[in-house]
Amino acid sequence: MTVLVTGGAGYIGSHAVLALIEAGRQVVVLDDLSTGSRDLVPRGATLVEGDVGDEALVGKLIREQGIDAILHFAGSIVVPDSVADPLFYYLNNTVKSRSLIAAAVAGGVKHFIFSSTAAVYGEPEASPVDETTRPGPISPYGSSKLMTEMMLSDTAFAHDFRFVALRYFNVAGADPLGRTGQTSPRATHLIKVALQAVRGERTHLEIYGTDYPTPDGTCLRDYIHVSDLADAHVLALAHLERGGESQVLNCGYGQGYSVLDVVAAVKRVAGVDFRVDHAPRRAGDPANLITRSEKIRAVLGWEPRHADLDVIVGHALAWEDSFNAREKTRAVG
Ligand code: UDP
Repeated sequence: MTVLVTGGAGYIGSHAVLALIEAGRQVVVLDDLSTGSRDLVPRGATLVEGDVGDEALVGKLIREQGIDAILHFAGSIVVPDSVADPLFYYLNNTVKSRSLIAAAVAGGVKHFIFSSTAAVYGEPEASPVDETTRPGPISPYGSSKLMTEMMLSDTAFAHDFRFVALRYFNVAGADPLGRTGQTSPRATHLIKVALQAVRGERTHLEIYGTDYPTPDGTCLRDYIHVSDLADAHVLALAHLERGGESQVLNCGYGQGYSVLDVVAAVKRVAGVDFRVDHAPRRAGDPANLITRSEKIRAVLGWEPRHADLDVIVGHALAWEDSFNAREKTRAVG
């Protein structure tokens, strides 16, 4: 039982590789290292440097490594970049996913887990959303992922092939044992930005909008610990292997925190104060994006282990500290 993990050298993919290895799986990582890092590929996994859109390469891996399932994390995820360069996003996220799915079908791989996103909901009319909420992406990023979901659904109808598309809400935190975490210095996500302020890597944090129709005026999001998300992938694979039907599942805890809640948690956990400015709204930010979590819990038997904002922030902070210490040592060495 060997699993091919595309994007396994990236933030979420590397956590999933850890969880798969802990579950006793053989893992082959396919990653072009464009944003991922060789250092993040967990010990025990084989790294193949290459392009997920290279159908011949994937076909060869399926044959030679005896791949019987694919977890597809590789992709581009920066929403404003997707607005500026939509065709790159449709190539990287949609066209290459099509090649990967085609290679899976041609190679007889029947089980496929796909990293989708809450961005497929765009600005939902009501929150919390659930899987019956009509998708309506408002960015090329969200569209590029929704189009892949549609390809998977049509492929599952036509072929002996089943999939689980996991729609991630706000993924944060790091491996509790400090083995992997987020490394991208360009990260725009709230917790990452706040930790940069804690560490003095930026002078302050800007809150994008304080006049939203929410209790404290800032946006509400459903933050999920990356290791709980990794567990969901292992369970999704087991679901398909026991004959479970194809599924689209939202991944969140069903609890919302505001930007101010997150800022307060970061200050509390780090024990460091930093400057916080109020800034105008950022284009395309829905006021409230929270999911119901009943379906994923029921279908997969998923039980989160780290559903606590302070724990998420604490693990992210510990990773940042150890990662930066390592980088410093490397620079000196
Ligand atoms: N946010 C903010 N300041 C920042 C980064 C993010 O106020 O420097 C807000 C953002 O407007 C949104 C929330 O934090 O309301 C979460 O944003 P993030 O980029 O982390 O994730 P998204 O929900 O956009 O995927």
